[in-house]
Amino acid sequence: MKQSFLLSILVTGVGFLLPVLLSPPRLGAQETPEAPPAPAAAAPVRDRSDIQVLDGSVVLAVQTEAQITEMTMAEYLPLAMAAEMPAAFSDEALKAQAVALRTYALRYRANRKAAHPEADVCSDPGCCAALETEEHLRSRWGENYGVYMEKLSAAAAATDGQYLVWEDEPALTVFHASSLDVTEDGAALGTALPYLVSVSTPETPETVQNLCTTVEVSAADFAATVTRTVPEASLPEDDPASWVGTVSLDGAGRVSQAVIGGASVSGQTLRQMFSLRSTDFTLAWDGEGQRFLFRVSGYGHGMGMSQHGANLMAKAGKSYGEILEHYYPGTELVMAVLTDSAGDSF
Ligand SMILES: [Zn+2]
Repeated sequence: MKQSFLLSILVTGVGFLLPVLLSPPRLGAQETPEAPPAPAAAAPVRDRSDIQVLDGSVVLAVQTEAQITEMTMAEYLPLAMAAEMPAAFSDEALKAQAVALRTYALRYRANRKAAHPEADVCSDPGCCAALETEEHLRSRWGENYGVYMEKLSAAAAATDGQYLVWEDEPALTVFHASSLDVTEDGAALGTALPYLVSVSTPETPETVQNLCTTVEVSAADFAATVTRTVPEASLPEDDPASWVGTVSLDGAGRVSQAVIGGASVSGQTLRQMFSLRSTDFTLAWDGEGQRFLFRVSGYGHGMGMSQHGANLMAKAGKSYGEILEHYYPGTELVMAVLTDSAGDSF
Protein backbone atom coordinates (compact mmCIF):
# COMPACT_ATOMS: atom_id res chain seq x y z
CA MET A 1 0.00 0.00 0.00
CA LYS A 2 1.29 3.39 -0.90
CA GLN A 3 1.87 5.89 1.85
CA SER A 4 2.96 8.88 -0.17
CA PHE A 5 0.80 11.64 -1.46
CA LEU A 6 0.11 11.22 -5.13
CA LEU A 7 -2.16 14.00 -6.16
CA SER A 8 -3.03 17.43 -5.09
CA ILE A 9 -6.58 17.08 -6.26
CA LEU A 10 -9.04 18.67 -3.92
CA VAL A 11 -12.25 16.78 -3.58
CA THR A 12 -15.30 18.81 -2.67
CA GLY A 13 -13.01 21.19 -0.89
CA VAL A 14 -11.73 18.86 1.80
CA GLY A 15 -8.68 16.74 2.20
CA PHE A 16 -6.23 15.20 -0.19
CA LEU A 17 -6.27 12.05 -2.17
CA LEU A 18 -4.23 9.04 -1.34
CA PRO A 19 -4.41 6.27 -3.86
CA VAL A 20 -4.65 2.74 -2.63
CA LEU A 21 -3.46 -0.04 -4.87
CA LEU A 22 -6.26 -2.37 -5.65
CA SER A 23 -5.25 -5.82 -4.59
CA PRO A 24 -5.27 -8.25 -7.52
CA PRO A 25 -8.31 -10.30 -6.42
CA ARG A 26 -10.45 -7.19 -6.63
CA LEU A 27 -9.51 -6.40 -10.22
CA GLY A 28 -12.48 -6.90 -12.45
CA ALA A 29 -14.55 -8.18 -9.60
CA GLN A 30 -15.33 -5.06 -7.67
CA GLU A 31 -18.95 -4.30 -7.07
CA THR A 32 -20.23 -0.78 -7.22
CA PRO A 33 -19.58 0.68 -3.80
CA GLU A 34 -22.58 2.16 -2.09
CA ALA A 35 -22.32 5.77 -1.04
CA PRO A 36 -21.43 5.43 2.62
CA PRO A 37 -23.01 7.33 5.47
CA ALA A 38 -20.87 10.07 6.95
CA PRO A 39 -18.72 8.62 9.72
CA ALA A 40 -19.44 9.66 13.27
CA ALA A 41 -17.24 12.58 14.28
CA ALA A 42 -15.61 10.70 17.11
CA ALA A 43 -15.39 7.33 15.42
CA PRO A 44 -12.13 5.81 16.66
CA VAL A 45 -11.76 3.45 13.73
CA ARG A 46 -12.35 4.48 10.19
CA ASP A 47 -13.39 1.87 7.69
CA ARG A 48 -11.44 2.32 4.47
CA SER A 49 -14.58 1.87 2.40
CA ASP A 50 -16.10 5.02 3.84
CA ILE A 51 -13.39 7.29 2.51
CA GLN A 52 -12.96 6.10 -1.04
CA VAL A 53 -13.18 8.92 -3.54
CA LEU A 54 -16.05 7.94 -5.76
CA ASP A 55 -17.02 9.45 -9.09
CA GLY A 56 -20.04 11.21 -7.64
CA SER A 57 -17.84 13.39 -5.43
CA VAL A 58 -15.31 14.44 -8.08
CA VAL A 59 -16.38 17.63 -9.86
CA LEU A 60 -14.96 18.34 -13.31
CA ALA A 61 -14.94 21.66 -15.15
CA VAL A 62 -15.65 20.64 -18.74
CA GLN A 63 -15.07 23.03 -21.64
CA THR A 64 -17.56 22.50 -24.44
CA GLU A 65 -17.80 24.66 -27.55
CA ALA A 66 -20.15 27.07 -25.90
CA GLN A 67 -19.20 27.17 -22.26
CA ILE A 68 -17.60 25.59 -19.22
CA THR A 69 -19.92 23.19 -17.44
CA GLU A 70 -19.40 21.60 -14.06
CA MET A 71 -20.34 17.96 -13.81
CA THR A 72 -19.36 15.08 -11.62
CA MET A 73 -17.12 12.32 -12.92
CA ALA A 74 -20.17 10.03 -12.68
CA GLU A 75 -22.06 12.33 -15.05
CA TYR A 76 -19.10 12.92 -17.37
CA LEU A 77 -17.96 9.34 -17.97
CA PRO A 78 -21.05 7.80 -19.66
CA LEU A 79 -21.30 10.79 -22.03
CA ALA A 80 -17.60 10.61 -22.91
CA MET A 81 -17.76 6.82 -23.26
CA ALA A 82 -20.78 7.18 -25.58
CA ALA A 83 -18.75 9.51 -27.78
CA GLU A 84 -15.58 7.43 -27.77
CA MET A 85 -16.59 3.74 -27.86
CA PRO A 86 -19.55 1.86 -29.34
CA ALA A 87 -22.01 1.07 -26.56
CA ALA A 88 -22.42 -2.39 -28.07
CA PHE A 89 -18.84 -3.29 -27.10
CA SER A 90 -18.26 -5.90 -24.38
CA ASP A 91 -18.64 -4.85 -20.76
CA GLU A 92 -14.97 -5.40 -19.85
CA ALA A 93 -13.88 -3.22 -22.78
CA LEU A 94 -16.30 -0.51 -21.66
CA LYS A 95 -14.90 -0.74 -18.13
CA ALA A 96 -11.35 -0.38 -19.49
CA GLN A 97 -12.54 2.65 -21.47
CA ALA A 98 -14.09 4.14 -18.32
CA VAL A 99 -10.81 3.78 -16.42
CA ALA A 100 -8.83 5.29 -19.32
CA LEU A 101 -11.16 8.30 -19.54
CA ARG A 102 -11.27 8.78 -15.76
CA THR A 103 -7.48 8.61 -15.55
CA TYR A 104 -7.06 11.13 -18.36
CA ALA A 105 -9.50 13.55 -16.73
CA LEU A 106 -7.81 13.22 -13.32
CA ARG A 107 -4.41 13.80 -14.90
CA TYR A 108 -5.47 17.12 -16.36
CA ARG A 109 -7.64 18.02 -13.37
CA ALA A 110 -4.45 17.95 -11.31
CA ASN A 111 -2.47 19.88 -13.94
CA ARG A 112 -4.63 21.68 -16.46
CA LYS A 113 -3.65 22.00 -20.10
CA ALA A 114 -2.50 25.40 -21.34
CA ALA A 115 -5.14 25.11 -24.06
CA HIS A 116 -7.91 25.50 -21.47
CA PRO A 117 -6.60 26.79 -18.15
CA GLU A 118 -10.15 27.37 -16.91
CA ALA A 119 -11.26 23.76 -17.47
CA ASP A 120 -10.04 20.31 -16.49
CA VAL A 121 -10.98 18.70 -19.81
CA CYS A 122 -12.58 19.81 -23.06
CA SER A 123 -14.91 18.09 -25.50
CA ASP A 124 -12.51 18.28 -28.46
CA PRO A 125 -11.37 14.72 -29.26
CA GLY A 126 -8.19 16.15 -30.76
CA CYS A 127 -7.30 17.61 -27.33
CA CYS A 128 -9.06 15.58 -24.61
CA ALA A 129 -12.03 13.32 -25.32
CA ALA A 130 -15.21 13.75 -27.29
CA LEU A 131 -18.38 14.26 -25.30
CA GLU A 132 -21.93 13.40 -26.25
CA THR A 133 -25.02 15.21 -25.04
CA GLU A 134 -28.06 13.48 -23.64
CA GLU A 135 -30.24 15.16 -26.26
CA HIS A 136 -28.11 13.94 -29.17
CA LEU A 137 -27.87 10.44 -27.73
CA ARG A 138 -31.65 10.21 -27.46
CA SER A 139 -31.97 10.90 -31.18
CA ARG A 140 -28.93 8.76 -32.09
CA TRP A 141 -29.99 5.72 -30.10
CA GLY A 142 -33.76 6.08 -30.26
CA GLU A 143 -35.51 3.32 -28.37
CA ASN A 144 -32.14 1.86 -27.30
CA TYR A 145 -31.27 5.00 -25.34
CA GLY A 146 -32.23 3.59 -21.94
CA VAL A 147 -30.48 0.26 -22.48
CA TYR A 148 -27.26 1.79 -23.78
CA MET A 149 -27.02 4.52 -21.15
CA GLU A 150 -27.58 1.92 -18.45
CA LYS A 151 -24.85 -0.25 -19.97
CA LEU A 152 -22.32 2.61 -20.06
CA SER A 153 -23.26 3.87 -16.59
CA ALA A 154 -22.93 0.36 -15.18
CA ALA A 155 -19.45 -0.03 -16.73
CA ALA A 156 -18.36 3.29 -15.20
CA ALA A 157 -19.90 2.42 -11.83
CA ALA A 158 -18.22 -1.00 -11.79
CA THR A 159 -14.87 0.82 -11.84
CA ASP A 160 -15.98 3.72 -9.64
CA GLY A 161 -13.01 5.83 -8.58
CA GLN A 162 -10.38 3.57 -10.15
CA TYR A 163 -7.57 4.97 -12.27
CA LEU A 164 -4.10 4.11 -13.52
CA VAL A 165 -0.95 5.60 -12.03
CA TRP A 166 2.66 5.65 -13.08
CA GLU A 167 5.16 6.97 -10.55
CA ASP A 168 2.49 8.55 -8.38
CA GLU A 169 0.72 10.39 -11.18
CA PRO A 170 -2.34 9.56 -13.22
CA ALA A 171 -1.02 7.97 -16.41
CA LEU A 172 -1.39 9.50 -19.86
CA THR A 173 -4.06 7.04 -20.97
CA VAL A 174 -4.39 7.89 -24.64
CA PHE A 175 -6.23 5.37 -26.78
CA HIS A 176 -7.16 4.78 -30.40
CA ALA A 177 -9.67 2.79 -32.46
CA SER A 178 -7.58 -0.03 -33.92
CA SER A 179 -4.15 -1.24 -34.98
CA LEU A 180 -2.91 -4.18 -37.01
CA ASP A 181 -0.54 -6.56 -35.17
CA VAL A 182 1.09 -3.98 -32.87
CA THR A 183 0.32 -0.58 -31.39
CA GLU A 184 2.51 2.50 -31.86
CA ASP A 185 5.45 3.41 -29.64
CA GLY A 186 4.78 6.77 -27.99
CA ALA A 187 8.40 7.79 -28.53
CA ALA A 188 7.83 7.70 -32.28
CA LEU A 189 5.23 10.45 -31.88
CA GLY A 190 7.21 12.49 -29.36
CA THR A 191 5.48 11.03 -26.29
CA ALA A 192 8.13 8.76 -24.80
CA LEU A 193 6.68 7.14 -21.68
CA PRO A 194 7.57 3.73 -20.24
CA TYR A 195 3.97 2.52 -20.49
CA LEU A 196 3.22 3.95 -23.95
CA VAL A 197 5.15 1.33 -25.85
CA SER A 198 4.37 -0.85 -28.82
CA VAL A 199 2.49 -3.98 -27.74
CA SER A 200 0.69 -6.74 -29.60
CA THR A 201 -2.98 -6.28 -30.43
CA PRO A 202 -5.43 -8.95 -31.63
CA GLU A 203 -7.36 -7.24 -34.44
CA THR A 204 -7.52 -8.94 -37.84
CA PRO A 205 -9.29 -7.91 -41.05
CA GLU A 206 -11.73 -10.73 -40.29
CA THR A 207 -12.64 -9.48 -36.82
CA VAL A 208 -12.66 -5.70 -37.37
CA GLN A 209 -14.54 -4.12 -40.26
CA ASN A 210 -12.43 -1.74 -42.36
CA LEU A 211 -9.28 -2.53 -40.39
CA CYS A 212 -7.40 -2.31 -43.69
CA THR A 213 -8.36 0.40 -46.15
CA THR A 214 -7.10 1.66 -49.50
CA VAL A 215 -6.88 5.24 -50.68
CA GLU A 216 -6.47 5.88 -54.41
CA VAL A 217 -5.10 9.19 -55.63
CA SER A 218 -4.59 10.28 -59.24
CA ALA A 219 -1.21 11.73 -60.18
CA ALA A 220 -2.76 15.17 -60.67
CA ASP A 221 -4.47 15.14 -57.26
CA PHE A 222 -1.34 13.75 -55.59
CA ALA A 223 0.79 16.54 -57.08
CA ALA A 224 -1.72 19.25 -56.14
CA THR A 225 -1.98 17.98 -52.55
CA VAL A 226 1.77 17.63 -52.08
CA THR A 227 2.49 21.03 -53.61
CA ARG A 228 0.09 22.77 -51.23
CA THR A 229 1.91 21.47 -48.14
CA VAL A 230 5.42 20.81 -49.49
CA PRO A 231 6.03 23.46 -52.17
CA GLU A 232 9.70 22.53 -52.47
CA ALA A 233 8.82 19.04 -53.74
CA SER A 234 9.88 18.48 -57.35
CA LEU A 235 7.27 16.43 -59.20
CA PRO A 236 8.05 16.11 -62.95
CA GLU A 237 4.67 15.75 -64.61
CA ASP A 238 5.71 13.05 -67.05
CA ASP A 239 7.21 10.70 -64.47
CA PRO A 240 5.00 10.11 -61.39
CA ALA A 241 6.76 6.80 -60.81
CA SER A 242 9.78 8.83 -59.66
CA TRP A 243 7.93 10.98 -57.12
CA VAL A 244 8.04 8.66 -54.12
CA GLY A 245 11.50 7.91 -52.78
CA THR A 246 12.67 6.20 -49.62
CA VAL A 247 9.97 5.49 -47.04
CA SER A 248 11.33 5.15 -43.48
CA LEU A 249 9.48 3.17 -40.83
CA ASP A 250 9.57 3.58 -37.06
CA GLY A 251 10.11 0.70 -34.65
CA ALA A 252 6.44 -0.27 -34.78
CA GLY A 253 6.47 -0.43 -38.58
CA ARG A 254 4.63 2.83 -39.21
CA VAL A 255 5.76 5.50 -41.61
CA SER A 256 8.00 8.04 -39.87
CA GLN A 257 9.31 9.85 -42.98
CA ALA A 258 8.91 9.56 -46.72
CA VAL A 259 10.84 11.32 -49.46
CA ILE A 260 8.34 12.89 -51.86
CA GLY A 261 9.72 14.76 -54.85
CA GLY A 262 13.08 14.97 -53.10
CA ALA A 263 11.57 16.50 -49.93
CA SER A 264 11.24 14.73 -46.60
CA VAL A 265 7.67 14.54 -45.32
CA SER A 266 6.64 13.01 -41.99
CA GLY A 267 4.20 10.13 -41.82
CA GLN A 268 1.86 12.23 -39.69
CA THR A 269 1.85 15.01 -42.29
CA LEU A 270 1.12 12.53 -45.06
CA ARG A 271 -1.69 11.10 -42.96
CA GLN A 272 -3.26 14.54 -42.65
CA MET A 273 -2.65 15.50 -46.29
CA PHE A 274 -4.41 12.45 -47.69
CA SER A 275 -6.90 11.82 -44.84
CA LEU A 276 -5.41 8.41 -44.09
CA ARG A 277 -6.79 6.52 -41.10
CA SER A 278 -3.30 5.99 -39.62
CA THR A 279 0.42 6.28 -40.31
CA ASP A 280 0.59 2.50 -40.73
CA PHE A 281 0.55 2.50 -44.54
CA THR A 282 2.37 1.64 -47.72
CA LEU A 283 2.52 4.01 -50.69
CA ALA A 284 3.19 2.97 -54.26
CA TRP A 285 2.62 4.20 -57.80
CA ASP A 286 0.34 1.87 -59.74
CA GLY A 287 1.47 2.42 -63.35
CA GLU A 288 -1.24 0.24 -64.79
CA GLY A 289 -4.03 2.10 -63.00
CA GLN A 290 -2.20 5.44 -63.31
CA ARG A 291 -2.72 6.20 -59.63
CA PHE A 292 -1.02 6.24 -56.25
CA LEU A 293 -2.21 3.63 -53.78
CA PHE A 294 -2.09 3.98 -50.01
CA ARG A 295 -2.79 0.72 -48.21
CA VAL A 296 -3.61 1.66 -44.62
CA SER A 297 -3.92 -0.50 -41.50
CA GLY A 298 -5.77 0.48 -38.32
CA TYR A 299 -7.40 3.75 -37.32
CA GLY A 300 -5.97 6.48 -35.12
CA HIS A 301 -2.57 7.47 -33.77
CA GLY A 302 -1.97 3.94 -32.54
CA MET A 303 -0.75 4.78 -29.01
CA GLY A 304 -2.06 3.17 -25.85
CA MET A 305 -5.20 1.05 -25.74
CA SER A 306 -6.70 -0.14 -28.99
CA GLN A 307 -10.45 -0.04 -28.48
CA HIS A 308 -11.18 -2.84 -30.95
CA GLY A 309 -8.32 -4.81 -29.44
CA ALA A 310 -9.83 -4.27 -25.99
CA ASN A 311 -13.18 -5.50 -27.25
CA LEU A 312 -11.61 -8.63 -28.72
CA MET A 313 -9.68 -9.29 -25.50
CA ALA A 314 -12.93 -8.89 -23.54
CA LYS A 315 -14.69 -11.33 -25.86
CA ALA A 316 -11.83 -13.76 -25.24
CA GLY A 317 -12.51 -13.59 -21.50
CA LYS A 318 -10.02 -10.97 -20.33
CA SER A 319 -10.98 -8.61 -17.53
CA TYR A 320 -10.70 -4.84 -17.78
CA GLY A 321 -7.71 -5.00 -15.43
CA GLU A 322 -5.94 -7.40 -17.77
CA ILE A 323 -6.81 -5.25 -20.79
CA LEU A 324 -5.41 -2.12 -19.13
CA GLU A 325 -2.26 -3.93 -17.99
CA HIS A 326 -1.71 -5.14 -21.55
CA TYR A 327 -2.05 -1.75 -23.26
CA TYR A 328 -0.48 0.39 -20.47
CA PRO A 329 2.17 -2.04 -19.20
CA GLY A 330 3.66 -1.23 -15.82
CA THR A 331 0.92 1.14 -14.69
CA GLU A 332 -1.00 0.36 -11.52
CA LEU A 333 -4.74 0.36 -11.07
CA VAL A 334 -5.51 2.29 -7.91
CA MET A 335 -8.39 3.73 -5.97
CA ALA A 336 -8.14 7.20 -4.49
CA VAL A 337 -9.09 7.56 -0.86
CA LEU A 338 -9.47 10.65 1.23
CA THR A 339 -7.24 11.41 4.12
CA ASP A 340 -7.30 14.37 6.43
CA SER A 341 -4.58 16.98 6.80
CA ALA A 342 -2.99 14.98 9.61
CA GLY A 343 -2.05 12.42 7.01
CA ASP A 344 -3.79 9.31 8.22
CA SER A 345 -2.25 6.12 7.02
CA PHE A 346 -4.32 3.10 6.26
ZN1 LIG B 1 -8.75 19.51 -23.97
